[in-house]
Formats: sequence, structure tokens, C-alpha cells
Amino acid sequence: MLAASDFSKRDQALTPSPTLAVSKKAKEMAAAGVDVINLGMGEPDFQTPAAINQAAIAAIEADQTSFYTPVGGILPLRQAIADRASSYSLAPIQAKQVTVTTGAKLSLYVLMQALLDPGDVIVTAKPYWVSYAEQAALAGADFRAITPNNAAMKLTVADLEAMETPVKVLLLNNPTNPTGQVYSAAEISALLDWAKDHDTFVILDEIYGHLVYNGHTFTSGLSLQELTDSRLIIVDGVSKSYSMTGWRLGWTIADESVIAAMNKLLSHMTSNPTAVSQYAALAAVSGDQQVVADMRRQLEDRLNRTYDRLTKIPGLSVAVKPAGAFYLFFQVAPAVLAALGLDSSQAFASRLLEEAHVALPAGEGFGMPGYLRLSYAKDQAVIDAALDRIETFLAPASAAGQQ
Ligand code: PMP
Ligand code: GLU
Repeated sequence: MLAASDFSKRDQALTPSPTLAVSKKAKEMAAAGVDVINLGMGEPDFQTPAAINQAAIAAIEADQTSFYTPVGGILPLRQAIADRASSYSLAPIQAKQVTVTTGAKLSLYVLMQALLDPGDVIVTAKPYWVSYAEQAALAGADFRAITPNNAAMKLTVADLEAMETPVKVLLLNNPTNPTGQVYSAAEISALLDWAKDHDTFVILDEIYGHLVYNGHTFTSGLSLQELTDSRLIIVDGVSKSYSMTGWRLGWTIADESVIAAMNKLLSHMTSNPTAVSQYAALAAVSGDQQVVADMRRQLEDRLNRTYDRLTKIPGLSVAVKPAGAFYLFFQVAPAVLAALGLDSSQAFASRLLEEAHVALPAGEGFGMPGYLRLSYAKDQAVIDAALDRIETFLAPASAAGQQ
């Protein structure tokens, strides 16, 4: 076994993704024969729609997948992404304003490498998706996560005005992982205007944009600002809306100078996203969108049922009902933690996994201790069984906490 100090300081400072780590632990327990319920991972449990799989098979059989593709992806895919975005953007999007990456996660990583020098300030709202902080750290940036002053924990211009330093990058996630909150058109518009006035880049992560529920609407940044000569950058992908997490396919839409800066990096990192996944994504983006509508409707149903049940469990609370994505980010009452003899939500998550066999990531990884995240992108019977276990696990502590 080599020592930690044998590795780079950069690597030593890094924390492995907590969402992936909790799922790994759950899978290890399951392999050892434990009946674990894993609601830790943010991925839909639907199989990739058959028409998308068939398009990938057809591309292989047509000998289209043996060789390197252009760094930023095949033109038909970039064109299809541009065309789809043009249906709701302020100005038409062109293929040269798109680069395709190995998941949206790589788009985000490469953007941080391309935009941030050591010490540059990047701002986001707390709680935030786990990889934002570590990716910013890998760029040597000064990552500032602000706790918004509202129950929905949505960032506002007032929060940004209170910053005393110039902000190089504003990182927004709409709909938000882990809170499931959706910014209104007015809210996003105000943030984009502020960034424009301050020459601040905006990375707007819209990976959950097609997954909004109960009459809420999603407003893409593309419908509010033009991209040409602009610092607005959109990140999206097929993982969530088409249930294609394993295909590893995402993209960035931005001014062509941003795309060129990213492609320079990508040419030394991946050369290109996997060819067969690009053909699958092409079928997803340009095919019948009914598959997305069907999955969205099922997720909406799961949100409503899971929210109703979870918020009735004594000791657990959700500040504002989510309107998008597929997570419930709930608080564990401090009195309940104390009654269990635990001093953190991380310790709670560990006990819950060991004793109740339910895997959930703790709020610590999202910059917000005291909370846990539950992904409801699972079969309702599985979610209900997990909630039964959580309720049973909490019952003695809730009773003690109420005394
Ligand atoms: N952004 C957010 C907010 C996410 O939750 C995820 C989940 N993996 C990603 C980006 C990256 O998605 P992917 O790499 O699977 O495209
Ligand atoms: N984005 C998902 C999540 O938040 C997938 C896991 C990951 O990439 O961190 O769980």
C-alpha cells in the first residue's frame, strides 16, 4: 500500500464523490447478501428507451462507431442539439456553439479549467451539487457557496450584491440538485442581468430542465439572453431526461470562443465522446419526445406520494416542496439527532445504512450539514419500503425528542 503523500497534493485534497460513495457502500452490502435499499444515487431507474438503444445498435452495425470523431462531437448531434435549443432560445443556436462531452460532469470540469485561474472567485448557492466544490478546487479557484436568505434556498441578486470581491463565475443549477427548487423566469433573468453588468461568466446547469412538476415551468437561460459574445454558458445532457446515465453524454452551449477553449482542453483529455453514445444521444434529442413526457409524469407522481409520506414522519421536514429534479432534501430535527446520540447528519446516514439498510447521502457533501438527500427516481414500492424503514428507525428517537 502506498502512502497518501506519494500522490499529488491536488489528489490528496480531493474528497471522493459522496453520492457515488454511498451507492458503492450500498452495492457492497447488497453483494454481501444484505437487503439494502439504495436511494442515494441520482439516476432514474427506467431503462433507456428502446428506440434510443436501437439507434445505437444500428450505428454499430452501419460501421459508424469504430473511429475517433471530431473533438466536440459529430456534426449531426451538435446540429440536433442546436436545433432543439433554437426552439426556445432568443436567437438561433448554431452547431459551432455546441460541444459534446463525456457527461455533463465533464462539461462542468472542463469549463472550470477553461475559465478559472487559481484564486478566482466562483459563487454558487448552498446547498449545491457535490461535484461543484471539488471541481472548482481542482482549478485552484476560490469556491464561495452562499446560503440564500429564503426558505427555498434560491440565490438572489441581493446575495450577490453582498459579495465584496469580483466574481469570475456564477454557477447556477436550475432545477436544483439537491433541493428540487426551480427558479422563475424573473429570478433567473435578474441573476443573468447582474452577471452581464459585472462581466461575470454564468455556468447555468440545466441538466434537470425537462423534469419539472405540478404545473411549474422551467425557463432556460437561452430564452433570456443571446449567446454571441456573451458570458452565458449552458450545460445539459441526456443522463436525466432520457434515463441514459450509463452512456455518459452531455454538452455545453455557449459563445463559439468558449467552445473553442473547451475543445482545446478536451482534445488532450478524451479526444471525443464515445462514438456509439453520440449516435444514441442523436436519436434521443431528435426522436419522439413522448418518452421524456412519460418518465416525467411518473416522476411527478413519485414526488407527490413520497413528499406526502416523508413530511409526515416525525422529526423530518422539507422547507419547500420541490418543483423539479428528483430529490427530496430533508432536515433531521436536531432533537432527533441528539436522541440518537449522533452529532452529525453524516453519522445519521451511516447509522441508517448499517441498521435500517437504507442508503442516502448526507447534507455535508452538499455544503449543508443537518440534512439528507433522498432520490425518488425509483419504483414507488421501493421508496415506500425505504420510508417504512426510516420511520421505524426514527420512532424511538422521535418519541424521546418530543418529550
Ligand atoms: N449537474 C448536476 C446538478 C447533476 O446532478 C449531475 C448528475 N450526475 C450532473 C450535472 C452530471 O450529469 P452527467 O455527467 O451524468 O451528464
Ligand atoms: N448527479 C447524480 C447525483 O447527484 C449522480 C451521481 C454523481 O454524479 O454524483 O447523485
